[in-house]
Amino acid sequence: MGDAPQLDRLGDGGGRVSAHEVKGWCPGALRPMRSGDGLVVRVRPFGGRLRRAQADGIATLAAAHGNGLLDLSSRGNLQIRGVTDTSLPHLIEGLRAMGLIDPSEEVESRRNILVTPFWAPGDGTEGLVSALTDALSTPDAPALPGKFGFAIDTQRSPALQNASADIRLERDAQGGLILVAEGMLTGKPVTQQTAVAEAMALADWFTRAGGGARRMSALIATGTVPKGHDTPRQAGNAAPVPGPVPAGVLVGFAFGQMRVETLAGLAKHGSLRLTPWRLLLVENARDLPDIDGVLIDPADPLLRITACTGAPRCEQALQETRALGRALAPHLGAGATLHISGCTKGCAHPRPAPLTLTGQARGFALIHNGTAADTPIRTGLAPDELKDHI
Ligand code: SF4
Repeated sequence: MGDAPQLDRLGDGGGRVSAHEVKGWCPGALRPMRSGDGLVVRVRPFGGRLRRAQADGIATLAAAHGNGLLDLSSRGNLQIRGVTDTSLPHLIEGLRAMGLIDPSEEVESRRNILVTPFWAPGDGTEGLVSALTDALSTPDAPALPGKFGFAIDTQRSPALQNASADIRLERDAQGGLILVAEGMLTGKPVTQQTAVAEAMALADWFTRAGGGARRMSALIATGTVPKGHDTPRQAGNAAPVPGPVPAGVLVGFAFGQMRVETLAGLAKHGSLRLTPWRLLLVENARDLPDIDGVLIDPADPLLRITACTGAPRCEQALQETRALGRALAPHLGAGATLHISGCTKGCAHPRPAPLTLTGQARGFALIHNGTAADTPIRTGLAPDELKDHI
């Protein structure tokens, strides 16, 4: 979930909750998180889509009530940074006026729905999203763990299998819809009409089977599996990059972050679909003009560098990360990837990476094939010598 572990929950009774304590839930707009640069307000666009007026409106609101920076999350959400306690109510009111706020914190928390950005009008995706959104909003919807999520992955080949979700709708090899419990290689055949009711029944099964605060895959790993899930899944390994796709054009951003002016510039060209890859899909666009902060070259090395917020915006950071990433980008070998972390927590890339630089009190540690906390092969490297090690 991207940078969230660096954050502290707002309204925790006066104390600040440590990064490790807050794992297990995701921030929202009604449940913002506190970070080194203020509150982070996470907007969860309905259906994974922002109409042009909504995108433009978010840019205006974030400029007025935040610090002008916006993050894309790995769950297809948009985070407004640098919000203050004073500006928060005004921001929420503005978002509510644009139809971007859930009726309650509970509904917002449950409405974790990732939608394939490659859907086409009339292919049934919008109907599934709408019905699932409604089902998760009802008072009797199952109480699910904070990070529990749904993926609606309805295109002929699955695109979201590497993105976090617990219950998925995807296509089998014959093109039929199947319902999938994360962690299983098989799913249950469903139809457009039964899919959402079956998804809710699977969520209910999860709670009754003792899922508790775990994720679905952890329950499945115990050998407890739902009945009727016998249809093989397709294997998907989608790794989209900027460029044209049938629904529009995908664009990227250094470190998944942009300024409000960039969002407003993109909103001029179409509605925006969010993705779990920190790319935006500009609907029905073909050729975009140069927009400051937008990466359109799929070979751009900045797309292969992951860097957390770092100093000075994260209070726990021992080093600055993103300026270093920009400085190192021209030196990154073709196809190589790099993770830069301001400390050993590795918020931006919790899994092992081929190459990681971790900030230390003095300089950086170099780690091969590990996480930011793993044993380094070099320590105390000065920023100006790092280009020789990547
Ligand atoms: S420095 Fe980076 S990895 Fe460390 S807590 Fe802050 S955001 Fe997370």
